Amino acid sequence: MIDTYRHKGMRKNMLEELRLKGIKDENVLEAMDKVPRHWFLDEAFLEISYQNTAFPIGCEQTISHPYTVARQSELLGIKKGEKVLEIGTGCGYQTSILFFLGAKVFSIERQKDLHVKTKKMLDELRYRAHLKYGDGYKGLPTYGPFDKIIVTAGAPFIPNPLLQQLTIGGRLVIPIGDGKQIMTVIDRVGETEFEKQELGEFAFVPMLEKKV
Ligand code: SAH
Repeated sequence: MIDTYRHKGMRKNMLEELRLKGIKDENVLEAMDKVPRHWFLDEAFLEISYQNTAFPIGCEQTISHPYTVARQSELLGIKKGEKVLEIGTGCGYQTSILFFLGAKVFSIERQKDLHVKTKKMLDELRYRAHLKYGDGYKGLPTYGPFDKIIVTAGAPFIPNPLLQQLTIGGRLVIPIGDGKQIMTVIDRVGETEFEKQELGEFAFVPMLEKKV
């Protein structure tokens, strides 16, 4: 996979755009500088892969907008070595950003083809992440609890297993709603206590049930 000066330049422009849109976390911007987004897209999108747009990645799914990836990563506030669960591996772009933020990453995908393709690619790149084929509504109880959980598909409600798999002090970042979603941040502040913040509208593909 090739990363030319031209692509590096396009990435710098993308970072400038993200700064202008309000992304401040330098660790997130640095991780997004390191991961060549065009590697995760079909060659047909090579020249436009750094635009703030969602592109198809197969199986009727899309890669998230760079701004969405940046904002969700910023909201997670990852510290090196934290255990992070992602729901919706997709093409693995967000997964790779989590890896470059120093997280121990687990990620679930319910589309078999996407899971297989992305696992092969991340293995080849030596971007370390534990990719699982399964239903994100259930989380990964045997690997939990997690310091942070990120959902990258629009969820109709907050799945209870995800709340239960958070450490106390842990955080869930999840877009909630049909059609458009409200970015929702849930902090687990005690065994049974959770605090919720709602932060603006986003658009995601839906989090689907009952395939696996
Ligand atoms: N993080 C991805 C975003 C992909 S879009 C990226 O960086 O590109 C959302 C992904 O969530 C899709 O691949 C979709 O198949 C997956 N998904 C939807 N419902 C799911 C579920 N219940 N469990 C796991 N993955 C799910």
